[in-house]
Amino acid sequence: MTPRPGRSTIVRGGRLLDARAHRADPADVLITGDTIAEVGAPGLKAPAGARVIDARGLLLHPGLINAHTHAHGNLAKGMGDLWTLELLLTAAPWIGGNRTAEDRHLSAKIGAVEMVLKGCTAAYDLPLELPVPTAAGLEAVGRAYADVGLRAVIAPMVADRTFFEAVPGLLDALAPGLRKDVDRLRLAPWKSSVANLRKALRGWTLDREHVRLAVAPTIPHHCSDEFLRACVDLAKEHGVGLHSHVAESKVQAIVGLQRYGKTQTAHLDDLGALGPHFTLAHGVWLDADDMKRLGDHGASVAHNPGSNMRLGNGLGDMRGMLERRVNVGIGTDGANCSDNLNVYEAMRLASLVSKARRPDVERWVTTEEVALAATEGSARALGTDQRLGRLAPGYKADLVFLDLQHPNWIPLNDPTNQLVHTEDGGAVTHVMIGGRMVVEHRRVTTVDVAALARQAEAARQRLARANVPLKALYERLAPVVGRYCPGLAHMPYHIDRYVGS
Ligand SMILES: [Zn+2]
Repeated sequence: MTPRPGRSTIVRGGRLLDARAHRADPADVLITGDTIAEVGAPGLKAPAGARVIDARGLLLHPGLINAHTHAHGNLAKGMGDLWTLELLLTAAPWIGGNRTAEDRHLSAKIGAVEMVLKGCTAAYDLPLELPVPTAAGLEAVGRAYADVGLRAVIAPMVADRTFFEAVPGLLDALAPGLRKDVDRLRLAPWKSSVANLRKALRGWTLDREHVRLAVAPTIPHHCSDEFLRACVDLAKEHGVGLHSHVAESKVQAIVGLQRYGKTQTAHLDDLGALGPHFTLAHGVWLDADDMKRLGDHGASVAHNPGSNMRLGNGLGDMRGMLERRVNVGIGTDGANCSDNLNVYEAMRLASLVSKARRPDVERWVTTEEVALAATEGSARALGTDQRLGRLAPGYKADLVFLDLQHPNWIPLNDPTNQLVHTEDGGAVTHVMIGGRMVVEHRRVTTVDVAALARQAEAARQRLARANVPLKALYERLAPVVGRYCPGLAHMPYHIDRYVGS
């Protein structure tokens, strides 16, 4: 249960991570309701009758925040191997087809359970509902997060062009029969997407402190400019976040140049999309000017190193982003393209990717930069008004308790280095979100995981049957996409080539 307002909890005997200082000194944490009231030396005074949590032998760190994931991906876990981003987009109707509202709920819940078990306390989630998001579909996703007790910002992905319409020349590369099949995947006119989003934003019944909505024009060139402008206006009108996949693959970056004569980021800037409420997912192909624009506007990048490698997109430049004052959060991306929703792994990969890019040690990101990105940085991406991502008075009581007797921590030499490089979720013992114990002794307290597994298996079987025709369509399309898109990806990525200089 959510703690009663004013009810006190004292966490005693733990060691509190200070990621900046690379220290974990003994400290007690006093919580009032859902908020940290005080952090102090062992023996901190607590009001009479306060609930006591024994944290001896445990390391406390702020809940990790997943800056980018996809609720619908969880039921499609493990369905592909040799997928580029473009093949994943081609597979989307098959692996996400014929979903009911209950499937959407189930898929979101599987992800939420995985995240809390792996020390994550909030997520920025971009669900997909075709041909258009509905208030009921969004509510089903939101309810899953509320049931598990994980905080979430839910930004439904919207577009008015299919992937095939969005990539110039791709439709022409399809045989006429195949083109007719692809025509049937056509999306709803953008005005109906905007109308549904507005309805969902106005009628949202879930507690916005825990689960709120945002707007995600999925990939800029999958949306007409009128649609992008309407999304920008809608986000402003409702004071919510805006989230988009930008410069994720080289194909995407080149198509952006072909369509706009400038980068996707420059185009979004011209449309007024950039600002502190804007989160750009991936950004592997951002150039220095793009990063400067994002930094100057106080925007965020959700850096998803696992997905970027898994889909062959490349290695994002976190140092370049930080240098230009871009706020960087860390994300896992969806289970359909980067498998697990483990933010510890994403942190480790963020560190490793920066090292793999080049041998200049002074350009590498440090473990404290990565740890701060996955907590404070992701928190800022989720919304500037939420006090998340730190264990300090006034911040929400979102705490992860790690077992220092776990091999990941034997011995404890440097807690920041070990959080990022050694921890893999294996030492997570308890997780508190807003003062409520959502994971206790490695078990989720809020939902029945065994029942969830049974429901997921039933859904998996039903969806596998229902999606046979869409799978067959994917198998006919994949060779064409697999030939056409690498052709684009092998073109030189240089802006002069596309603006006719
Ligand atoms: Zn994504």
